[in-house]
Amino acid sequence: MDSQPLIRIHQVQKSYRLGEVMIPALKGVDLNVAGGEFTVLIGASGSGKSTLLNLIGCVDEPDSGEIWFDGQAVAALNEKERSELRNRKIGFVFQSFNLIPVLSVAENIELPLLIQPELSAAERRQRVESALADVGLAEYRHHLPDRLSGGQRQRVAIARALVTQPKLILADEPTANLDSKTAHMIIDLLLDLNRKRNVTFFFCSHDEKLIGRVGRVLHIVDGLISA
Ligand code: ADP
Ligand code: MG
Repeated sequence: MDSQPLIRIHQVQKSYRLGEVMIPALKGVDLNVAGGEFTVLIGASGSGKSTLLNLIGCVDEPDSGEIWFDGQAVAALNEKERSELRNRKIGFVFQSFNLIPVLSVAENIELPLLIQPELSAAERRQRVESALADVGLAEYRHHLPDRLSGGQRQRVAIARALVTQPKLILADEPTANLDSKTAHMIIDLLLDLNRKRNVTFFFCSHDEKLIGRVGRVLHIVDGLISA
């Protein structure tokens, strides 16, 4: 493991304005995540999970506090550097899969590579095949997403997150739309990828049943992470 954490968060606060009132979502979060770690953040709906993932993923900015990613202070990056970081070092997986229905499985997985102009078509194809193999969907490469089960769709989304060879994969309730057997299969797949590919995973869930499976468990309650 690297001595410097991959993610370092210090006293991060974030509120949302709703008309005249401010809704506090994060109230001073401290967190370190080492490279190669597999962490699950457990908390009830509204506890601040998505807010924290969006901040780590550089999709949104904190009101106060500091976030370092891979040794860089995120606030010091300009818009272009931040989107480079997001596109090249971070993969995202969502509860609702977010696949493009008119594109095949392989085309969905290839999407994040299309904004990396240095990759040739042959390199892209090779990356896509490798990601397809990683999630066990090679035979489905030409299928459209609506021909697949929920678990298979989430595998496609995981392959799409992997294909850029990111340092971190953030997953926001990736099993919430799946039955419990499929949910456990998806967790097994993520654990396997964490071991084999040494990708750092940070995912959140409201499902306490997933706790036993995972190395590091954090709890978030009303915008604060408890020990
Ligand atoms: P979780 O993902 O754990 O369900 P969120 O991070 O989505 O929690 O939300 C944390 C709090 O912030 C909740 O009170 C929620 O209602 C509020 N919130 C989240 N997003 C917004 C928004 N865009 N506008 C106003 N309030 C929001
Ligand atoms: Mg959420």
